[in-house]
Amino acid sequence: MSVDIPKIYGSLVFNDKVMRDRLPSDTYKELAKTVKEGRPLDLDIANIVAHEMKEWATEHGATHFAHWFQPLTGITSEKHDSFMTPLSDGTAITRFSGKELIQGEPDASSFPSGGLRSTFEARGYTAWDPTSYAFIKAEVLCIPTAFCSYTGEALDEKTPLLRSMAALEKQARRVLTYFGDGNEHVVTNVGGEQEYFLISKKDYERRQDLIMTGRTLFGDAPSKGQELEEHYFGAIRPIVNDFMKELDKELWEIGVSAKTKHNEVAPSQHELAPVFDIANRSIDGNLLTMEKMKLLASRHGLACLQHEKPFAGINGSGKHNNWSISAGGTNLLEPGDSPQDNLRFLVFLTCIIAAVDDYQDLLRTSVASCGNDHRLGANEAPPAIVSIFLGDELGEIVKDIIAGQEYQSAERVSVDLGIDALPNFLKDNTDRNRTSPFAFTGNKFEFRMPGAQQNLSNCNTVLNTAVAHALKQFADAMGDVQGADFEQKALRYIKQSLTEHQRIIFNGNGYSDEWPKEAARRGLTNYANTADALPCLITDKAYKLFAEQNVLNHNEVQSRYLVSLDKYTKQMNIECNVMQRMTRRQYLPAVNEYAGKVASEINAIKDAASGANIESQEELLNSLVSGADRASKALKDLIEIHTKAESFSDGQEQANCYAHEVVPKMAALRKEVDDLERITAHDYWPVPTYNDMLFYQ
Ligand code: ADP
Ligand code: MG
Repeated sequence: MSVDIPKIYGSLVFNDKVMRDRLPSDTYKELAKTVKEGRPLDLDIANIVAHEMKEWATEHGATHFAHWFQPLTGITSEKHDSFMTPLSDGTAITRFSGKELIQGEPDASSFPSGGLRSTFEARGYTAWDPTSYAFIKAEVLCIPTAFCSYTGEALDEKTPLLRSMAALEKQARRVLTYFGDGNEHVVTNVGGEQEYFLISKKDYERRQDLIMTGRTLFGDAPSKGQELEEHYFGAIRPIVNDFMKELDKELWEIGVSAKTKHNEVAPSQHELAPVFDIANRSIDGNLLTMEKMKLLASRHGLACLQHEKPFAGINGSGKHNNWSISAGGTNLLEPGDSPQDNLRFLVFLTCIIAAVDDYQDLLRTSVASCGNDHRLGANEAPPAIVSIFLGDELGEIVKDIIAGQEYQSAERVSVDLGIDALPNFLKDNTDRNRTSPFAFTGNKFEFRMPGAQQNLSNCNTVLNTAVAHALKQFADAMGDVQGADFEQKALRYIKQSLTEHQRIIFNGNGYSDEWPKEAARRGLTNYANTADALPCLITDKAYKLFAEQNVLNHNEVQSRYLVSLDKYTKQMNIECNVMQRMTRRQYLPAVNEYAGKVASEINAIKDAASGANIESQEELLNSLVSGADRASKALKDLIEIHTKAESFSDGQEQANCYAHEVVPKMAALRKEVDDLERITAHDYWPVPTYNDMLFYQ
């Protein structure tokens, strides 16, 4: 099956080209203007756009429309309404009004709001985000929307993201004015690399833990893991290849720019990377990618696992967040050729370094989740400590700025920093440090902490807001200086700021045992789990930042904290329930059955050959019986502490109990069961093992 990419790409998207082709030119211009200025759309214009959208959608087979939004559940939501409007003569026509396009009123009382919406005013409303195009999915015209309460408070992931992009644009333009620019549209760009596992659907369906929690709560290590490094970039299994082909095609149709696909390090692990785009559009695309992956996998007899750590002991899945800022299409993180561009680059770099240092705790919190707790700090992912990797060249430059000396490049070129051009080869910086959570990769930063199943809105909201704050500080400090005075003042600012924030720069191995100790000496934060990290959100510092940049008000911040806490404790509760159920109803009965079989074999042998040496059988039987006993005791311990955790009425105390007291008991139970797996005959084991799941054909 050959795919005509130019023909199908975006064929199910009401994109700029379709709008230009189909809308009356003054409507198109008016729409483009309101989008650019971020103003609400005039109802007359909306009526024309809606009608044309409906005509186009029905031509492409759509019968319904839906406001597609991102509540705080972490997944996307949609409610389908048909275009059908019955007439009094018993016939029907299709209709779609401007009002229906720009605003929806889902009965949203069941979405988490962290107390923002009391039940008597349960309805929230959704509002079109016209910077992200409408598209058709399964015969439904989907309109990307933001979701707010009637008092205007954000109930979703998209609203704060859009606000943070606006905040960053405002401050970046102030800074650009010193460089004689500042009239261009400033946007943040994101490219999210999505990692995932594919296993056979048959295996998946037999594992309650995968179905209920997304990860294996038990499972002895496979006979081989990833030590041979044969999977990374290896030949793709035919069944996976078919899946990927179909996925690409369906993504291209809805305008998601799937670009790169390959096998990842762990067995049965894969990755998909798109071409980057403005943050909100890119994140919409990522959410669609995740949804399509799950759906298509099942059509191919596969199950797609997007949990951060589906299998213990082998790599988990992240979602690297590649991030940059551009003004009028120029990447501001691209080191320039001219002295002017150079200074601009250093100003933005300095502000990003300051932002990441000042708000390292919030960045950590933005990626905190039950699933990511298992991934961060495990041996294949960045630790829970935020630091910045700059690479050798840029690292040296920053050091020299701090020391106040001229920079000598490897090629012995002396550079008067900020005034002369940075060496060109810096742009080809391919130096990679895979262990850093926040790495400069030539003309963008790569934030590697986000987990595979997370919505990237949250971490980008924090990043944009923190950087907006740092840019504001810079612009405030510069005041109304101009020309050469500005250059001198800016250079002094850069030197001082880099000096203050140099502790966040770390070019070494982030996976080493030494780093957490060194990081502690530097005073960097290190929150090992979600329960410890979340309180960072409800500090004066955080409230002040989000309020200053008009991204989240006090209530909104608090509601996000409560929703995250609630989600964490609920997920932990589910994991405990599943562990107990599987132990009681699957593992212990299986082990006892196998022990019974061994016992009757021993008796049979004794009967048949009274002098036979049955030591090893007896040893096995003993191990099975004593193992089952230990597992039962560990189960009891878990139940006890789980009951305690569930008894707390305070969410934070409950989360603390889960993180610090329940987790060790879960690990203890798992160890006992995994030990039993190792000695129980395969045919008796009630669920597919790591060997079965990870090395399927
Ligand atoms: P890796 O080696 O980590 O896989 P790539 O260079 O392939 O990195 O890029 C990974 C992602 O980064 C892609 O989604 C790509 O589109 C995105 N990306 C590239 N340039 C930028 C940029 N300037 N801003 C944001 N994302 C970018
Ligand atoms: Mg990457």
